[in-house]
Amino acid sequence: MSIKSFNPIPRTLMGPGPSDINPRVLAALSRPIIGHLDPQFVGMMDEVKALLQYAFQTKNELTIPVSAPGSAGMETCFSNLVERGDTVVVCQNGVFGMRMAENVTRCGGILVLVEDEWGTAVDAQKLEDALIKHPEAKLVAFVHAETSTGVESDVKTLCAVAHKYNCLAIVDAVTSLGGIELDVDGWGIDAIYSGTQKCLSAPPGISPVSFNEKAVEVIKARKTPVQSWFLDLNLVMGYWGQGAKRAYHHTAPINALYALHEALLLLKEEGLKNAWARHRHHHDALKAGLEAMGLTLVVDEAIRLPQLNAVAMPEGVDEARIRAALLSGYNLEIGAGLGKFAGKLWRIGLMGYAANEANVRLCVSSLDAALKVEGAGIEAVGSFYTK
Ligand SMILES: *Cc1c(COP(=O)(O)O)cnc(C)c1O
Repeated sequence: MSIKSFNPIPRTLMGPGPSDINPRVLAALSRPIIGHLDPQFVGMMDEVKALLQYAFQTKNELTIPVSAPGSAGMETCFSNLVERGDTVVVCQNGVFGMRMAENVTRCGGILVLVEDEWGTAVDAQKLEDALIKHPEAKLVAFVHAETSTGVESDVKTLCAVAHKYNCLAIVDAVTSLGGIELDVDGWGIDAIYSGTQKCLSAPPGISPVSFNEKAVEVIKARKTPVQSWFLDLNLVMGYWGQGAKRAYHHTAPINALYALHEALLLLKEEGLKNAWARHRHHHDALKAGLEAMGLTLVVDEAIRLPQLNAVAMPEGVDEARIRAALLSGYNLEIGAGLGKFAGKLWRIGLMGYAANEANVRLCVSSLDAALKVEGAGIEAVGSFYTK
């Protein structure tokens, strides 16, 4: 076997993440490595924190990138905020809510699961009913943008319900950050985690998190140390905390942080509102193109995510064959259904840099061609960009 340098064929990434990355961000990755305690690097860390505060719309001091993917951001929230015996209400309407529930029990918490149908939003009334039944509850957790179904839940309302019953709210914003409105301070979110490879369009492997004062107090008042040494925020803050007194905790993913810095800078240059509007604009075009072919989106318009489009499988179509045809014929990746939705739908992502006109046109025309090859009886594509 002769092993050579790895040079993948470029793909267009329109699945549930990772998403396409702006060349400016890829270029940042290859800049010279410097020490993770180098004063230059420390200055960049402060900028990453400030840019994250902008993206999350928060003044929270404890706003940092955890050195591991979104799942580690999830664990950071649960392992720091949940102590053995704490009651935690998890609202579950897809795969990622189930993972939150799993985190609660592994932290020794007592899980109260509030279930909603996949493809629907988290029901605030059901949450309120659960909190009335469980006055001992300390935390509420739910997903803003459920990537397994393409559904948005109403974070502002759910946080208000949690607070009414003296609970803190943990929010999964892995797929929402940068793609749809998210207002950490305005909506009263107490703890939040995200990921870099979805609407931020940076390489995977880093998880931005943010905790408000109330959440920090809970962490500081713990009776037992956080079980995970690596994710213990009391220790991580020694590295990511203020100014000159930074001490070694772990070696930060230096070049990946250059890339995150550049991706966040791109978001700042574009402006949050413009980024959300861009996702919406290209979603509208994608929807028009898919509908012109006779395909349908499965999620109700009022709760549909523009950045993650769940598309119903047409009758008699082998979904995996179509995805394989798109990948081999067009270098285009779209996502399969996940969990209960496996085999039932495609998930077409329009995340971050991937939310652009060329991608939408490629996706619609190649899907049309691939379905025709399969003889799926799909109608011809019309014109789908109206402005
Ligand atoms: C992708 C995703 C995660 C997990 O992120 P990883 O970076 O894959 O660990 C968690 N929650 C949601 C909603 C996601 O879409």
